[in-house]
Amino acid sequence: MEMTACNVCGKIFGTSSGSVCPACRKLLDIVYEKARAYLRDHPRANMNARELAREIGEDERLVEILTIEGRFENKSEGLEENEVEKKRKLLLDDLQRNLTTAPQKQRETGTYGSDRHGATRREK
Ligand SMILES: [Zn+2]
Repeated sequence: MEMTACNVCGKIFGTSSGSVCPACRKLLDIVYEKARAYLRDHPRANMNARELAREIGEDERLVEILTIEGRFENKSEGLEENEVEKKRKLLLDDLQRNLTTAPQKQRETGTYGSDRHGATRREK
């Protein structure tokens, strides 16, 4: 068994695999569940490890390690996938907005204001 410094607390511990001590591993599991639940409730949340840590009230370092370990990517609601999905939705929103507002803008400038209002309401 090798001796390794824990990635989280820096404590030296014996391990055959991984670089996080058993105590911190338990902590990571708790943080992971919290982060996963948060991402599930906020699928459109666009944030890095630090912002996510602040939202769920946990140590930034723990969230970072979970991200580095790829814990979020193993699940369908992973951080990376959310990014891709979000960008695709934004693109689709833009396309739809252009398709619906562009012809009316040319025909009747009077309705442009209400169209814009409708578009911003749809975003929320
Ligand atoms: Zn530790």
